[in-house]
Amino acid sequence: MKLHEYQAKEIFRKWEIPTPEGAVAFSGIEALQIAKNLNATKYVVKAQIHAGGRGKAGGVKLVDSPEEVRTATEELIGKRLVTHQTGPEGKEVLKVLVEAASSIKQELYLGVLVDRNLNRPVIMASAEGGMEIEEVAKQSPEKIFKEWIDPLVGFRSFQGMKLGFKLGFDAKLSRKLTAFLGKLVKLFEGVDASLTEINPLVLTEEDEFIALDAKLTLDDNGLARHPDLAELRDITEEDPLEVEASKHNLNYIKLDGNIGCMVNGAGLAMATMDMIKLSGAEPANFLDVGGGASAEMVENAFRILMSDKNVKAVLINIFGGILRCDTLATGVVEAAKKVHVDRPIIIRLEGTNVEEGRKILNESGLDFQVADGMKDASEKIVSIVKSF
Ligand code: ADP
Ligand code: MG
Repeated sequence: MKLHEYQAKEIFRKWEIPTPEGAVAFSGIEALQIAKNLNATKYVVKAQIHAGGRGKAGGVKLVDSPEEVRTATEELIGKRLVTHQTGPEGKEVLKVLVEAASSIKQELYLGVLVDRNLNRPVIMASAEGGMEIEEVAKQSPEKIFKEWIDPLVGFRSFQGMKLGFKLGFDAKLSRKLTAFLGKLVKLFEGVDASLTEINPLVLTEEDEFIALDAKLTLDDNGLARHPDLAELRDITEEDPLEVEASKHNLNYIKLDGNIGCMVNGAGLAMATMDMIKLSGAEPANFLDVGGGASAEMVENAFRILMSDKNVKAVLINIFGGILRCDTLATGVVEAAKKVHVDRPIIIRLEGTNVEEGRKILNESGLDFQVADGMKDASEKIVSIVKSF
């Protein structure tokens, strides 16, 4: 689960990680009030969306007075911001973070994430802060320094000192950085994060480290342990179809292709996507209706597939194990009567009661094509979308 910068910074403060003073605002008036209460002479107004790259896209404004904070806020709220992380459609700004501007001596990059190959957290740091770290990683990977954290012993001070020296700091600043890192790693473990990124981490004119930007992604599997953090979810930032699907307990992920998939079981769903790709097309989604899908779930799944304009045809691939093929066939026929199905559908059924299932489909009078095996199903569906 992704958090907004203002939410991440509130969590940072709880874990005693220095951040600029500030608060979130939903309107110009509110922003003005916040600015007036800040102990500052310069202010920053930052669009709050679940994407980075706001600075370059005009989503971060540096201003000189609370009145200008208000104007900047009114300009940003309601605007669609397009950054290199949002995709061409951009994201609508509904709120901004108003904060005191910091005096910047140096901008650095700092991140903690899980290294899945080594099964442990890794700290990444670079003096090339404030820029797109993906570019630095590609062009000059030697400028990113890493320290892995042994889960049994935890973060060690010498690792912080090592990073400090590599970044070019003297012993005094390296010690300050080490203290900062210790708190950040504690936070990372304490909230069950999968990623935290501070870009830029700033060294101020007063030689203090401050998190000027804050990105925090929580591991969904850890949320049960943090009900207070689970409440920070902002569904206005998520794909509306994915939000709808999660309401109906459907495992749905939207993808870029044009073949809608309805499958039971995650493994079969993955295999179906592979088959579509092998046959030369792209799936429009991952959709696992689950082993024990009811007719109602099938109907909801249909509704979600049909409201995706990119879907040109639908492939239903079911293995009847717990879910019997005749139950599914009945569900599909019922759903197709209720939901306006205006695109071709190919169905592949196998398993328990498959003959009864096929019969129900064939006698339904609806326009389905029943395929014979997975290969046949994927080839049929790909030839349909290719013919458009
Ligand atoms: P993004 O990563 O989305 O572009 P950042 O929070 O990194 O957004 O902000 C972009 C740039 O704006 C920073 O690199 C920094 O130069 C400037 N900036 C952001 N917040 C402040 C602040 N509180 N004080 C001074 N400058 C800031
Ligand atoms: Mg940033």
